[in-house]
Amino acid sequence: MATKKIAAKSVAASVTPVHALPSYLDSEHLGPWGIYLKQIDRVTPYLGSLARWVETLKRPKRALIVDVPIEMDNGTIAHFEGYRVQHNVSRGPGKGGVRFHQDVTLSEVMALAAWMSVKNAAVNVPYGGAKGGVRVDPRLLSRSELERLTRRYTSEIGIIIGPNKDIPAPDVNTNEQVMAWMMDTYSMNVGATASGVVTGKPVDIGGSLGRREATGRGVFTIATEAAAQIGLSVEGARVAVQGFGNVGGTAGKLFSEAGALVVAVQDHTGAVSNDKGLDVPKLLEHVAKTGGVAGFKGSESISTAEFWGCKCDILIPAALEGQLTKDNAGQVKAKMVIEGANGPTTPEADDILQDKGVLVVPDVIANAGGVTVSYFEWVQDFSSFFWSEDEINQRLIKIMKDAFAAVWQTAQQHKVSLRTATFIVACTRILHARELRGLYP
Ligand code: GLU
Repeated sequence: MATKKIAAKSVAASVTPVHALPSYLDSEHLGPWGIYLKQIDRVTPYLGSLARWVETLKRPKRALIVDVPIEMDNGTIAHFEGYRVQHNVSRGPGKGGVRFHQDVTLSEVMALAAWMSVKNAAVNVPYGGAKGGVRVDPRLLSRSELERLTRRYTSEIGIIIGPNKDIPAPDVNTNEQVMAWMMDTYSMNVGATASGVVTGKPVDIGGSLGRREATGRGVFTIATEAAAQIGLSVEGARVAVQGFGNVGGTAGKLFSEAGALVVAVQDHTGAVSNDKGLDVPKLLEHVAKTGGVAGFKGSESISTAEFWGCKCDILIPAALEGQLTKDNAGQVKAKMVIEGANGPTTPEADDILQDKGVLVVPDVIANAGGVTVSYFEWVQDFSSFFWSEDEINQRLIKIMKDAFAAVWQTAQQHKVSLRTATFIVACTRILHARELRGLYP
């Protein structure tokens, strides 16, 4: 009898959180993870009985910090810090990109991994969420140093990734070549070609047609759907894009092909504008040749502040997080902001934009096209049967449109922002899976 009583008592104690969260998990901690936690707090009242499980979203399932030592071309040894975070795997294996950037931190990768859980659930692909990164400025590395860094990082995180466990992909400053090295390194370590371990690979080694353009195509599709809801025609619309790489460049191209005017573009080299619309194909050539938009003929150079305040209908931040802030959000003249980047709008900026009546379509739906085609790539790799580009684009557009419709309807129903609506749809799916699977043991 006495034993039973003690057991009951310890069960009661175990459901009460006795330890304060470590500071990097604290919602007062500024930075991407703190922002993510606030987003979860905002959605919790809409989760009904599933709110019981919400704590699971407030901490990553698994986070790995790795040391990445490489020999530099000059013979010295350099050490870089790398991360792979698996936020949630209730709906399937972890999935999300790897970024190489000098500002990468654990907090940032944790938030990006969590946003992948939300994004993957929002478009209903059977994945959890994960993300990786190395704190390095890849522009300072030679090609062979970059290859050694990629291979050593892959080998270090090899203990937690795999085609059925966690599947990396490109993100900021990583590309098809980096994915090829990752796939090769993992394959060498397991002794068999494992093409499904990463997505965003070159087409010749199991990559998918349409993957490179997928995020930009998704941004364009979502922007078109959102524009229709507010009675804005894409044809003739004025568009401003921040970041003219894989995402912003492709979206800009699709907008200009659809008859929109891309009036301003900003990147790490500067900002350019043309009131009558920039020649997008020529601008893409210029960027490929010079590495940025600065100095583009047929444009006038503008300041970053002028870029945010430019006369446009659709503003697409497609670079890094934390770009639209309380300092520039007040200047925005656009009717809609479509988040091509992950986390480009701070919560203060989000509120300012909402007060101004600007429709913000959040990253977790707007840029989900990339991971959607990553999912197609993974499926193709498993079946060793490859689809046509047309089939891929059609399927992508359908998934994006259906996901946007569900989010729009949820936003109307609860009278909430599209960000909160996307979190409602996604977190409900994640926590429902969590509940169905139950706790182990
Ligand atoms: N890095 C992209 C993202 O943030 C794609 C991730 C993937 O394809 O797994 O959505």
